[in-house]
Amino acid sequence: MSDAPEAGPGSGGFSLELGEDLVQTREWLHEFAVSVIRPAAAEWDEREETPWPVLEEAAKIGLYSLDFYGQQYLDPSGLGIPVTFEELFWGDAGIGMSLAGSTLAALAVVANGTPEQAGEWCPQMFGGPGDVKLGAFCSSEPDAGSDVSAIRTRAVYDAARDEWVLNGVKTWATNGGIANVHVVVASVEPAFGSRGQASFIVPPGTPGLSMGQKFRKHGIRASHTAEVVLSDVRVPGSLVLGGRARLEERLARVREGGSAGEQAAMKTFEASRPGVAAMAVGIARAAAEYATEYSRTRVQFGRPIGQNQGLAFQLADIAAAVDGKEAYGILEALAGKLDHLLQRRHGLRKDKRNHPHEVELAADLPKVT
Ligand SMILES: Cc1cc2nc3c(=O)[nH]c(=O)nc-3n(C[C@H](O)[C@H](O)[C@H](O)COP(=O)(O)OP(=O)(O)OC[C@H]3O[C@@H](n4cnc5c(N)ncnc54)[C@H](O)[C@@H]3O)c2cc1C
Repeated sequence: MSDAPEAGPGSGGFSLELGEDLVQTREWLHEFAVSVIRPAAAEWDEREETPWPVLEEAAKIGLYSLDFYGQQYLDPSGLGIPVTFEELFWGDAGIGMSLAGSTLAALAVVANGTPEQAGEWCPQMFGGPGDVKLGAFCSSEPDAGSDVSAIRTRAVYDAARDEWVLNGVKTWATNGGIANVHVVVASVEPAFGSRGQASFIVPPGTPGLSMGQKFRKHGIRASHTAEVVLSDVRVPGSLVLGGRARLEERLARVREGGSAGEQAAMKTFEASRPGVAAMAVGIARAAAEYATEYSRTRVQFGRPIGQNQGLAFQLADIAAAVDGKEAYGILEALAGKLDHLLQRRHGLRKDKRNHPHEVELAADLPKVT
């Protein structure tokens, strides 16, 4: 293995420049967004449901698949997922969310689970053409949004039956209650806050898991977002992500005053955040394009409204923000950390260097070996 980092084409580290493969992937996704997502957007926005026919089309061409998303997560540039989500959300934010929702659950398993757990459960979150499936990641609760340490859902180990018993209410879960596989973050040792939490797989059809309220949203509507109620949900002891031995070791370290080393929900969020930033960029790009087109065609006082200076300046500022580095501010802000993580992902080390936008982030990208 080379001692030079592979991230970013021809660069010495993280770069926003796309390699030839990603340029082609972006064009392919853009074509899907133009020809399949956009024509379906209004109907599914109105229906406020998972757009199953769109997922089916995406599955047929290999887009809605573990293989495709896996490849993008593993792209050495770190830009595979941001590029993917930007194009899908440019098409329509709700349909984009439906196409992306299962990846969050899969990522939780990859980030926290063993390779065997990932191999068994991630494929069941996508299914295949003719049999499309969903995964749901359930972290948020009514009183635990950003503050995941406030999670109240409890996981209690029943040694006699070698089962975990889950109780609690999750909220804002994409695909919640309709997914094939749910990944639930729960507290094993409430006194330890987020250091006492673990993630659990809830297999299809497990008794006690049900959908609560389904949310009606102002945006991102062509996707299913709902509460998930867990009432004495029993799952096999082996379905704690990472395994019970690793969890016990971690809890023992915390009891002795040491560091947990990892936090279940945060490991998932840290790995998924660059993709969320890219979703926002895709939405902003689409909005700027719609606004520009409207300003060219809407005529008032005898001329297109865009020819008025006050409006033209605003549109120019928006276009510059979307096209230029400003729109990628969040990705850039993450660049220093991403650069570092990409090198760790590839088992590489390099001399410490300063990145102008480096920010402090606590956790790691998922293990990908
Ligand atoms: C469409 C959609 C889909 C979702 N899908 C999922 C899903 O699949 N699974 C899941 O678990 N959750 C999901 N969520 C929930 C999402 O993860 C939460 O909305 C998010 O974690 C923020 O939590 P909150 O909404 O409770 O906001 P809050 O935590 O209440 O934050 C409100 C505001 O306060 C700010 N804030 C909070 N704390 C601080 C601080 N310390 N310093 C400065 N500012 C702060 C926040 O940035 C935010 O602007 C989804 C949400 C939406 C809208």
